Amino acid sequence: MPELPEVEVTRRGIAPFLENHEVTGVVLRRSGLRWPFPHDLERLLKNKRIVSTGRRGKYLLIQFRHGTLIIHLGMSGHLRMLPATHPPQKHDHFDLLLGAQIMRFTDPRRFGAVLWHGQDEGDIESHLLLRGLGVEPLLHDDLAGLLHRQTRHRSAAIKQVLLAGDIVVGVGNIYACESLFEAGIHPNAAAKRISRPRYEKLAAAIRRILAAAIEQGGSSLRDFIGADGQSGYFQQNYFVYDREGEPCRQCDASVRRIVQGQRSTFYCVRCQR
Ligand SMILES: [Zn+2]
Repeated sequence: MPELPEVEVTRRGIAPFLENHEVTGVVLRRSGLRWPFPHDLERLLKNKRIVSTGRRGKYLLIQFRHGTLIIHLGMSGHLRMLPATHPPQKHDHFDLLLGAQIMRFTDPRRFGAVLWHGQDEGDIESHLLLRGLGVEPLLHDDLAGLLHRQTRHRSAAIKQVLLAGDIVVGVGNIYACESLFEAGIHPNAAAKRISRPRYEKLAAAIRRILAAAIEQGGSSLRDFIGADGQSGYFQQNYFVYDREGEPCRQCDASVRRIVQGQRSTFYCVRCQR
């Protein structure tokens, strides 16, 4: 599943082909994905210039003067830049035409989304899907303080609080497991009992791990814009994630798996308290 780093790497990959370019057309090959496509997308976008690209959590924002095209990659979606002549395959549902190039949205499981938010509907941050999102972990300048303040009354496990995404976005299952390991915090620890200094460690871990993942993805940017069908999602060398029964890379104790909120959590009983 694409997480924040993959979405950010995607954004960086498509940005040079989109920004300051004019949309020459739109191709929709079905009526929608998770939600119906905007019915008048072609009329809305044709001959309009893309001002910039952005991202909020896992939502890609393609900004025009008159509104924003919101794209979510869902469970299995990816975007590629291709020559306009490239024949569509079975799961290619949406093309944004940019002259000789197209941005193609492929999504086998169809949990992705393409939505339009007009300028007249208000600030993009007020969109139903965006308004409840937590802060951007790589942009907020006091993530530790925020996590500490906003968890004083939350007795839920810290792992669950991170996954909820209402304090900070982008810390999905993999990154939650890895960040908690790096910070030495037990995934089941009640969020409200974690001290400010430990949140400092956690915030630093979240930022370092997400930045490193984006950096790693950056080296495979080529794959995103190639026509070879490779989406360029990257496998990292995890400390605990998906390593049940294997030795902890720090202390040799075996990595344990528990289930929290129907998601697997991996952690080291010795390193995380
Ligand atoms: Zn360990």
